[in-house]
Amino acid sequence: MIGTQRTTRRGDLPLPVPRRAPDSAAAVLRAVLDHGPIARSSIARVTRLSAATVSGVTAVLMDQGLVREAPEAVNRPGIGRPHVPLDVDADSVAIVGVHIAVPRATVALLDLRGRVIVQRQDPHGRRDPAGVLEALATTIAEVRREHGRWRRMLGVGLATGGWVDAAGGRVVEHPALGWRDVPVCATLAEATGLPVRADSNSRALLRAEQLLGAVADRARQSAVHMFVGNVVDVAFATGGVVHQGPRSAAGSVAHLPVDGCDLPCSCGRVGCLQAAVGEKALVRRALADGLIDRPEIGALVDAALAGSVGALALLQERARLVGRAAALLLDLFDPEVLVVAEAGVNRVPECLATLRAEVESASSAGADVTATVYSSSFPTSVLAVAGGAVALDRVYASN
Ligand SMILES: [Zn+2]
Repeated sequence: MIGTQRTTRRGDLPLPVPRRAPDSAAAVLRAVLDHGPIARSSIARVTRLSAATVSGVTAVLMDQGLVREAPEAVNRPGIGRPHVPLDVDADSVAIVGVHIAVPRATVALLDLRGRVIVQRQDPHGRRDPAGVLEALATTIAEVRREHGRWRRMLGVGLATGGWVDAAGGRVVEHPALGWRDVPVCATLAEATGLPVRADSNSRALLRAEQLLGAVADRARQSAVHMFVGNVVDVAFATGGVVHQGPRSAAGSVAHLPVDGCDLPCSCGRVGCLQAAVGEKALVRRALADGLIDRPEIGALVDAALAGSVGALALLQERARLVGRAAALLLDLFDPEVLVVAEAGVNRVPECLATLRAEVESASSAGADVTATVYSSSFPTSVLAVAGGAVALDRVYASN
């Protein structure tokens, strides 16, 4: 095209995308979540909104049962009406968090702070989509009846491993469950009468870290989240936005090759990360070695915490393999925060230390691993919080 260049004209340019008006309600609600109890004047300072806007928005949020006036700490007679601080209303509303794992489903009620009010875990009866979703709708109805009758339900959030199309509300593929193209949101919405959103497990947990986690502030800048269970998946975010990818397929690291592993993988190859660190193989080994008496990863972690040398060794071996993959992610993304959600790392301090040491030796980015690599902020409720975060994301993003 040399020689034929001409000045770009206005008609050559793509149409400008209209900029979304800043959502002041969402900003106020997040400020209350982050800093509550907090006075209206301080909310105005944090959000850079006018006092009048804050006052109007908080009135609406109070009507919706999302925000309430906190009990007054100090009464100051004679100085006029005190500034009554506002806090998130943890009692008026709730959301339902659902997680679908390979052996079982988790249904939980959570409050606006992401605290689990109640949770139920049931092994799947049938594993086909219709069977699982019907059972879920029944459990959701029971949990609402028993524990949520006094709360307004804002919606259902669903998280699961595998490939989830969040915008389309469907599970594209979940090989371990044998699911393909399942419209989970529409099906559950019809059965429960509640709005339903879905996302992949790892993206949901990353959002939970950004909203409610131990280092939420930094995770909102940039973060990578690695989930290791029966499936292994990864999510990353920059500038508070969790990356989805045009096919919602970002973060699939199940078949990353791992050195020194010769276990066969479901994909037909050997040496994949998921085959090396997947829960199933680990639990089977622990059972065969007589380290646990029920086929559950939690039992292996309990055994390690109770002093079983063999159980700790198995979990540390897993932490080393996970650490090698985490080092690669650290070098690839150079995130402010890298969170690893793995049963051993979450609850056993030695496993977190092993993971960090492995990241340090395998990474070339030179990051301070103790200030960068963390275990999950939700060690005992990771599945309930994953589902819950998908629903809370909607509350905090659009309200
Ligand atoms: Zn594989």
